Amino acid sequence: MRPTEILIDLAALRHNYRVACSLSPIGKPIAVVKANAYGHGVVPVAQTLGKDVDTFAVACLEEAKILREHGITQPILLLEGCFTPDEYKEISTLDCQPVIHNSEQLQPLFNAVLTKPITVWLKIDTGMHRLGVQPAQFAHFVQQLQNCQCVAQINAMSHFSCADELDNDATLQQLALFEHTVTQVKGFDSAGQTSLANSAAIMAWPQTKLHRSRAGIMLYGISPFIQPVEQAEQLQQVMTLRSRVIALRQVKAGQTVGYGNHWQATRDSMIATVAVGYGDGYPRNAKSGTPVLIKQQRGKLAGRVSMDMICVDVTDIREVKVGDEAVMWGDGLAVTEVAQWADTIAYELVTRMPTRVKKIYNSAN
Ligand SMILES: *Cc1c(COP(=O)(O)O)cnc(C)c1O
Repeated sequence: MRPTEILIDLAALRHNYRVACSLSPIGKPIAVVKANAYGHGVVPVAQTLGKDVDTFAVACLEEAKILREHGITQPILLLEGCFTPDEYKEISTLDCQPVIHNSEQLQPLFNAVLTKPITVWLKIDTGMHRLGVQPAQFAHFVQQLQNCQCVAQINAMSHFSCADELDNDATLQQLALFEHTVTQVKGFDSAGQTSLANSAAIMAWPQTKLHRSRAGIMLYGISPFIQPVEQAEQLQQVMTLRSRVIALRQVKAGQTVGYGNHWQATRDSMIATVAVGYGDGYPRNAKSGTPVLIKQQRGKLAGRVSMDMICVDVTDIREVKVGDEAVMWGDGLAVTEVAQWADTIAYELVTRMPTRVKKIYNSAN
């Protein structure tokens, strides 16, 4: 059997949710499990978080349906709202809460015949300029929604564009615009909930704490920051990508390794071939030198990533043998670090893991 596998540490997931709770004094963090729980498997993730969570968030109705089919009963926030009018009926039947972010979503809601009125999240564009109503239009939207018999409750939210940049005051400007916009509508604060912070803001922008948070990447034990921050030290990475050494060879100084003869040995070297490649979600554009843990020490990726294999320079690791475990990310090697070597972010690496690689879940207890 091919030894390539993904390990999902559900105990770490629970731990990380508790960390998010401790940093979110207003209500519990909404647990963001879109994109198959950032590639970790949405059903086991949601079931493990279970009753600790009072609201989940996904991108769309299809993702919400998967949760409902697997016995998740909490309200589900739909971050992109809905795409066609007839979805409102399903949204109400499935106890989902759509984001309302443009005027095109209103008319179908006014015309809808629902099993019961729904809670909606009115999204304000405070500077991301991706989704959301203009701050100047907020009051008008609230008024229209208040007059709609399909709406039981109106909450307000916005999203930060730069919360992962610790010295960028765009976050505080967005916060100020959000609070100004929301408080200008009389009676709104007391009636509705407000939500702002993503993981980066939960961890680094305590000024946002007066609003409910939405925790995504941090639940999976991944820091949204490139640089080390104190709050990230509490997180435990949930996903490990591991495989084994399937071949070893000595190459002489001057010899090359891999496709395109891209890597050339500058000294006599020991090369370990590991059974993992871009067909397993390991990034093809990881550069030579990317760390790979073998015997808990750091070998260095040597040459191009193949579909099913990589080569690792293990010259400085003693007594590597065929069959030794290799960890591409996991304990001792943050996926964030690997992502930097591949010019991407950890979000992308974990989210795009292919189904080819089997996932093994440890118990949460
Ligand atoms: C994905 C998402 C989040 C979670 O972001 P993280 O950086 O993963 O914590 C929060 N809010 C919205 C609107 C999102 O789309």
